[in-house]
Amino acid sequence: MAEKHFKYVILGGGVAAGYAAREFAKQGINKGELAIISKEAVAPYERPALSKGYLFPQGAARLPGFHTCVGSGGERLLPEWYDEKGIELILSTEIVKADLSSKSLTSAAGATFTYDILIIATGSSVIKLTDFGVQGADANNILYLREIDDADKLVAAIQAKKDGKAVIVGGGYIGLELSAVLRLNNLDVTMVYPEPWCMPRLFTAGIAAFYEGYYANKGVEIVKGTVAVGFESDTNGDVTAVKLKDGRVLDADIVVVGVGGRPLTSLFKGQLAEEKGGIKTDAFFQTSVPGVYAVGDVATFPMKLYGDLRRVEHVDHARKSAEQAVKAIKASEEGKSVEEYDYLPYFYSRSFDLAWQFYGDNVGDTVLFGDDDPASAKPKFGSYWIKDGKIFGAFLEGGSADENNAIAKVARVQPAVSDLNVLTQEGLQFAAKI
Ligand code: FAD
Repeated sequence: MAEKHFKYVILGGGVAAGYAAREFAKQGINKGELAIISKEAVAPYERPALSKGYLFPQGAARLPGFHTCVGSGGERLLPEWYDEKGIELILSTEIVKADLSSKSLTSAAGATFTYDILIIATGSSVIKLTDFGVQGADANNILYLREIDDADKLVAAIQAKKDGKAVIVGGGYIGLELSAVLRLNNLDVTMVYPEPWCMPRLFTAGIAAFYEGYYANKGVEIVKGTVAVGFESDTNGDVTAVKLKDGRVLDADIVVVGVGGRPLTSLFKGQLAEEKGGIKTDAFFQTSVPGVYAVGDVATFPMKLYGDLRRVEHVDHARKSAEQAVKAIKASEEGKSVEEYDYLPYFYSRSFDLAWQFYGDNVGDTVLFGDDDPASAKPKFGSYWIKDGKIFGAFLEGGSADENNAIAKVARVQPAVSDLNVLTQEGLQFAAKI
């Protein structure tokens, strides 16, 4: 089979790939120097749309509407853009072998690609219930969501099971976004998760109480403190019910599982240093092998602000890490360097009429402020996380652009706080003063 050589190869065609390509074009590349190799059949797009606008009952988002880089207010890179820039999009191509010593990648179809510089942007794969041998978990209509093909299967299931029953397994942000959008599609929705409240890795009990109340008011049923241990299906193999550990059985026409992801690093096992489940990089996203970079979900990088190493599975970091890596690559070609990556963690989610943002680190004590009544016409509330007398993290539901900027600044500046009661009373006003 043919071998193709590129100066730069981006492995993976998701969010980070799109932002890296834009940065390469900005910095200046020659035609034919850069290729993106992706398992997916489409050019890079803004993955968060898949659990939101893509599933709307009316006016659903479809490609080419949400190709990168529209998610951050940038230019929409259509397939023609890559053509014009001479960037080769090698789509529907899964790489099954990577040999970093010979700088070559081999596809499932047997094609070989060689490179001078490699950017690994393979993202994450979803954890499946079949991975744990959950009984009946291979039934039809037990679905997951990571790529556009998965979203299309979900759209088809929503249409096939109109006004039916959906069970969402998992209480993270994917579970919350999917429960909301399936409810908007008029399905009868039940969420199931083992923890005492939703989004436990970020939400405090107080924050979660608002969302659980709001969802209940929208008709979403929540079953906490138990897990799915098996599924029943009919003679066609379609799922009909979810069996819970506590003995309850929930009828289901569709099950969507959102129980987390795993970074896709297996191609590089034993070839690159790893840390915290990801590929270890420096502040320029270079791995332990010179000329090989890792960005987005797969990278474990130095978090300058907190003086430790972290892996971040959020879209903002996918974008920024990709840009940082390309800037560093181009600078090093000219014998220059760029500033170290200095990232402020930022994560957001949207569902129903709600939208929240979180900045910083959720460590230490917390205070809750504002109107967190789920029945309010326009709820607006937030939380601060305080450690060693300083604010480390800030969360805001329903904020304006200015207000969100204000809480971002608080998380970055880490102002001192002497009295938590005053902070609770001042709430957003405290952030506005920073
Ligand atoms: P990805 O965007 O996942 O791209 C990885 C690409 O690599 C894919 O195209 C994949 O097919 C390809 N690939 C992998 N292995 C191979 C291989 N061997 N050969 C060829 N190609 C390969 N974050 C937020 O902050 N806010 C949100 O609201 C939000 N919503 C989300 C909703 C959903 C449904 C999902 C799945 C994620 C969401 N995220 C959100 C997380 C965010 O989308 C990810 O952090 C981001 O996409 C990571 O970018 P990436 O480029 O590292 O990986």
